[in-house]
Amino acid sequence: MRDYKLVVLGAGGVGKSCLTVQFVQGVYLDTYDPTIEDSYRKSMEIDKKVFDLEILDTAGVAQFTAMRELYIKSGLGFLLVYSVTDRQSLEELIELREQVLRIKDSNKVPMVLVGNKADLEGERVISVEEGVEMSSKWGRVPFYETSALLRSNVDEVFVDVVRQIIRNEMEV
Ligand code: GDP
Ligand code: MG
Repeated sequence: MRDYKLVVLGAGGVGKSCLTVQFVQGVYLDTYDPTIEDSYRKSMEIDKKVFDLEILDTAGVAQFTAMRELYIKSGLGFLLVYSVTDRQSLEELIELREQVLRIKDSNKVPMVLVGNKADLEGERVISVEEGVEMSSKWGRVPFYETSALLRSNVDEVFVDVVRQIIRNEMEV
């Protein structure tokens, strides 16, 4: 069976690597290096079927690169991650999502909107309502707040994207 390629996108420092490592390895690794881009493999059971996932933890969204175009092309599902403590990081997702839709040339691309660092209540600048609002603007893209630190909603966001991919495959 083929691999399900997932791509984790978002501004530097929002927690893409922490979320990915927490999902794949079940640990919170706080060794922040914004330049590291890596891919991880994990098998996971959903509805009694095993899926082989390949997860690309991306780095750097400052400019459009040919590399990015390639991995968006080959990606089947996308996690668009911002930090609830960083307004700019939510704004960057608007352009990023447009790039994904343009490159995939489809408006039914499996994706989730992820507001990470939900444990940092004191530093929050983006409310839950704003996340919900963005997700409905995007045509009800599923929205979750997560904490890589507390491992909250981490499995849920990945499972949601995989379920969307499966659903799309059944429709064609
Ligand atoms: P990336 O550039 O998007 O890959 O960001 P990282 O995953 O490397 O995370 C950047 C920094 O944000 C980490 O060093 C952590 O200190 C912090 N961080 C990431 N996720 C969380 C989280 O869920 N809660 C808190 N409090 N801090 C987080
Ligand atoms: Mg990273």
